[in-house]
Amino acid sequence: MDLYRHLFSRVLYPAWESGLRGRPTLRRLAYLEKTQWRPLDELEAIQAGALQRLLRHAYENVPFYRRRFAEAGITPNAIRSVADLHKLPILRREDAQGSAQERTANRGATVEIRKSTSGTLGRPLVFGYERSSENWRHAMKLRGYGWAGYRPGQRSLHFWGAGPPRVDTANLQTRLRDLKINTDRALRRERYVDCGHRGSAELDAVVDIIRREKIEVIVCYSQAGADLARHIIAGGLRTWPDIPVICGAERLLMPDRIALEAAFGTGVFETYGSREVMLMASECPAHAGLHTSMETLVVEVVVREGERTRAASPGELGEVVITDLTNLAMPFIRYANGDLAVPAVPGTCACGRALPRLASIEGRVTETLIDGTGARVNGLVFNVVIAHLAHGIRQFQVVQHRDRSVTLKVAPTLEYGAEVEAVLRQTWERYLPGVPVSLELVTDIPTAASGKRQVVVVER
Ligand SMILES: [Zn+2]
Repeated sequence: MDLYRHLFSRVLYPAWESGLRGRPTLRRLAYLEKTQWRPLDELEAIQAGALQRLLRHAYENVPFYRRRFAEAGITPNAIRSVADLHKLPILRREDAQGSAQERTANRGATVEIRKSTSGTLGRPLVFGYERSSENWRHAMKLRGYGWAGYRPGQRSLHFWGAGPPRVDTANLQTRLRDLKINTDRALRRERYVDCGHRGSAELDAVVDIIRREKIEVIVCYSQAGADLARHIIAGGLRTWPDIPVICGAERLLMPDRIALEAAFGTGVFETYGSREVMLMASECPAHAGLHTSMETLVVEVVVREGERTRAASPGELGEVVITDLTNLAMPFIRYANGDLAVPAVPGTCACGRALPRLASIEGRVTETLIDGTGARVNGLVFNVVIAHLAHGIRQFQVVQHRDRSVTLKVAPTLEYGAEVEAVLRQTWERYLPGVPVSLELVTDIPTAASGKRQVVVVER
């Protein structure tokens, strides 16, 4: 361990997290480091306790859920464990979008952090939660990343999506926020590189950072990491020992995993997270599926049968349904986030953890766009930007035609205006140079036959 990392993990980081920023993240991490080794029945008891607390709170203090309990003809007493959760209806994305106010608790917890997501269905969703939930999220992320060998203070490269282009960089508040984020990242030795546009020059620059800054761990969008890996393999550019790679945001496909292993070694780890709840599941060193974050979330995989749902069998594809046990301010109870997954065969993993596993996450594959020079561009760049424009955009879809021209379809809200349009324009000028883009305002974007609305369509 180098001196900085030692100092960081023993002194700087605890002081920063617990003192300066007043976050009990490390206490929670210490708790989660212990619970991960508990037998399944104990973990289920922990989860059931947190679930009952959430349901009672939601029933008493959240109008939306009070109504849902009444409609289902039950009270929280009818749900003793996760196995009873099917008695409550699924919260669909469209239900969640139209009910922000009604889903906010009027007592017992306060929304302190507000965010929005474009999701995988091209319809932005605004949500909120309390600071204590934020601490749990970070603790869970540190635990999951820790399985890949990540330790705070290591020199990490984050080959990840950037936020929207800054329209107002002169604004003092914006500058202060940027300064805070940059200080935080510098202290943690986190290096962020936008993975949106992946031409040869950009990928060479990333290789240069890995070499020059002696990167010790890489966190990346799965397909962005794979493009980087293929660039390294093709050019014979690897000059480093093994570096663990933590993949997220997109499904990690087998050919991509193989490329990543060739470029960085066999420590390749898939993670499954979302903006709504952060880390939902994470791959352990046994590489035998992804363990769910069961102390802070209920991750169900369900199959719909008419109005009813049942749990998917091991190996069976189903919808991911999330209950966030730490968000009391604006609860997500049985929220179908639009992803599909396959539960693994039950049983303790070779790593020794009993935390239930997902065998795979399906359907989280984004199309790759091509810019005017032929360079690959991550289809998620618009998701990332539009997540910040939720007030102005109801639905969107990016269509790249055979001649490479792009049509950006947007279903606007009443608040859509010149400012939103300016951000969209800057986004395509930055990521799709040399591509003619036309913006088309529409009233609705129909779903595909699968029921999913594809966010990025590439015509072939
Ligand atoms: Zn395991």
